[in-house]
Amino acid sequence: MLDSLSSSLKDALKKIAGKTVVDRAAVEELVRSLQRALLQADVNVKLVMHLSQSIKRRALEEEPPKGMNLREHVLRIVYQELVALMGGAGKVDLSQQTILMAGLQGSGKTTTTAKLARYFQRKGLKVGVICADTFRPGAYKQLSTLCAKVNVPIFGDPTEKDALLIVREGIKRFAETEVVIIDTQGRHALEDDLIQEIIDINEIAKPEHRWLVIDAALGQQAAEQARRFNEAIEIDGVLITKMDGTAKGGGALSAVSETKSGIVFIGAGETIDDLERFDPDGFISRLLG
Ligand code: GDP
Repeated sequence: MLDSLSSSLKDALKKIAGKTVVDRAAVEELVRSLQRALLQADVNVKLVMHLSQSIKRRALEEEPPKGMNLREHVLRIVYQELVALMGGAGKVDLSQQTILMAGLQGSGKTTTTAKLARYFQRKGLKVGVICADTFRPGAYKQLSTLCAKVNVPIFGDPTEKDALLIVREGIKRFAETEVVIIDTQGRHALEDDLIQEIIDINEIAKPEHRWLVIDAALGQQAAEQARRFNEAIEIDGVLITKMDGTAKGGGALSAVSETKSGIVFIGAGETIDDLERFDPDGFISRLLG
């Protein structure tokens, strides 16, 4: 998971860790190495510039807190700025709510919908899932097979082409259910009618949360996807999938920043239990070793 980013960041930090005095040249060298590492990991160039400027400015201007030497001070700033880049952890409630899932085809949206159903069920909540993906043949069957394994009821109709009708009916069906998760259609590209459909579903369902599913392997296109979905329905949480793979991961981080929301969960495997709540501090600690 983000292995090459992690090792380049560690190398960059090691260089400064070996210095006795942290002067401007040392900070500049560190920032350059960080920039290289983040750009290679596919983090958006604007974000990298913003992050490196903040690190440089703070490292050179801020006084180290009492008892902290300059080197520790600089490392702490790098750590804090990387946590800020992740946007913090997105909010997850354990109360009555509807969650609308957005994302392109293949991102892992259907699998993640079932994983989320399982997550809330384990928290003791009554969960129902609506399959509003009327585009991909087999979507209903895939979701119902996954949900059947954990006894979560699903509403959908594989013969119906009108996703809005399904959502209206599904909301009625699950009126007494605590957590309702709506899986929507994805496509290979951001087509206008796809975006319009999710806008319409959002108006009908009035969900408390609108979460975007992003594949960790997605490169620079991730930010553009996030921007379009965010403009359409105001994304308030991002789920990054396939973190168990060898993905660079930087594209997904850029997507999070684009939505100005936080990461809510991380998917790290194909089984229904492979879902983790996101913890920015732990994540960066692992990244920096
Ligand atoms: P959708 O088109 O967005 O609904 O995507 P699917 O849920 O059908 O997932 C596409 C593929 O990605 C499937 O083969 C899933 O098993 C796989 N997948 C989803 N999430 C993860 C994950 O976290 N890790 C791994 N390794 N595979 C995943």
